[in-house]
Amino acid sequence: MAKAVEATQDEESKISDENDAEKVYDTIIVGAGAAGVGVAIALGHSGVENYLVVDRAKVGSSFASWPAETRFITPSFPSNSIGMLDLNSIAIGVSPAFSMRVEHPTGQQYAAHLQGLANYFELPIREMTNVKSIEMKDELFHLETDRHTLRARNVIWAAGEYQYPSLNIFDGSEHCRHTSSVSKYGDLEGDDFIIIGGYESGIDAAYHLAKCGKKVRVFDLSGPWEEESSDPSIALSTYSFERMEHPSFGQNVELFAGTPIQSVTFANGIYEVKTEDGQVFQTKQKPLLASGFDGSHKFVSHLFEEREDGFPSLTERDESTILPGMFLCGPSVRHDGHIFCFIFKYRQRFAIVAQAIASSLDLPTEDFVEAYKEWGMYLDDLSCCGQECLTC
Ligand SMILES: Cc1cc2nc3c(=O)[nH]c(=O)nc-3n(C[C@H](O)[C@H](O)[C@H](O)COP(=O)(O)OP(=O)(O)OC[C@H]3O[C@@H](n4cnc5c(N)ncnc54)[C@H](O)[C@@H]3O)c2cc1C
Repeated sequence: MAKAVEATQDEESKISDENDAEKVYDTIIVGAGAAGVGVAIALGHSGVENYLVVDRAKVGSSFASWPAETRFITPSFPSNSIGMLDLNSIAIGVSPAFSMRVEHPTGQQYAAHLQGLANYFELPIREMTNVKSIEMKDELFHLETDRHTLRARNVIWAAGEYQYPSLNIFDGSEHCRHTSSVSKYGDLEGDDFIIIGGYESGIDAAYHLAKCGKKVRVFDLSGPWEEESSDPSIALSTYSFERMEHPSFGQNVELFAGTPIQSVTFANGIYEVKTEDGQVFQTKQKPLLASGFDGSHKFVSHLFEEREDGFPSLTERDESTILPGMFLCGPSVRHDGHIFCFIFKYRQRFAIVAQAIASSLDLPTEDFVEAYKEWGMYLDDLSCCGQECLTC
């Protein structure tokens, strides 16, 4: 579980919960990360007023719990003046580059940016509210939290991936430590690390450890650093390639492509990592898992039909195909082969969801949709986008 979620339920929420028993919201958004805050702003712009955002911790808590050294790989640039929205922006007219004067923000900086947006747009957010279950009863969604039952006509699930890491992937993976639980690479003791997973998080961990003079071995099923593709789902980002050019990376990091791990054992203070092709590697440090995330959509899988790849099946409005009123926002959105895992991708669907909900309340949406289209924040035609521009 991510570090930021350890906060207690006693802390004060921004929105009072006195009237929960009687109140029915038009929409409840679960999660106040980049997706939840972004879609909340879009919902407000579309004219919907009776909505609430809930988060089990704080606004931006996943970003706040990134390892201290980890930075955005997508650059921010104040390009809004020519109509090209900053790549890391979640709202029309907003530029993290302009407000923070940082090109590659840390998670902590971006969390502060999200908190600033939530305040600026006066979003109705209730923090420290963990949604434990969602059920449909009497044509309303009932969201069970630690304190109350919240009721809504629509739910937007935006609970992200970071707090739901992939942990059980081979025998003995319980002996490893997922990178999402690392507070700061510079604080890790020992000088010899094994990292399992060589995509962005694995290379990020290797880079920071190598800069501290640690020896690092990185194992990956394939080898994203060898890919020629321009597709960021397959190849590494430019930012990571640049980091791999740092002298400490060349001196300290050994890369093993096409080397799946079979098991990890621990005995007499030594971790033994076996690969599927029979090689054995040893280290005194807990191996680091950079294996990605199961994602929070598993938590609400009963509310969606499942695609063959396990992701929720969605209508063209990002609504459940079996339960109208249940929407999905964020990096788990999939349409055919299109994957919306970066902010500059999934933000283009916020207005689609907002429009669907506003229309269901008979609110006019033409001007709203036009404004979002002008900012490239309304993607309704996926046919124009091939693998290279949409997958990640
Ligand atoms: C290390 C790393 C680097 C990345 N770098 C980039 C990058 O450079 N550029 C980019 O575009 N993308 C990047 N991404 C991908 C993506 O933008 C992030 O994963 C982003 O956090 C997704 O935002 P989100 O709002 O969907 O999820 P989150 O930020 O995880 O927000 C979800 C929120 O939901 C809350 N929540 C979860 N479960 C519950 C529950 N049951 N009840 C109530 N609240 C709940 C959480 O507390 C959290 O605040 C990166 C991801 C990682 C992990």
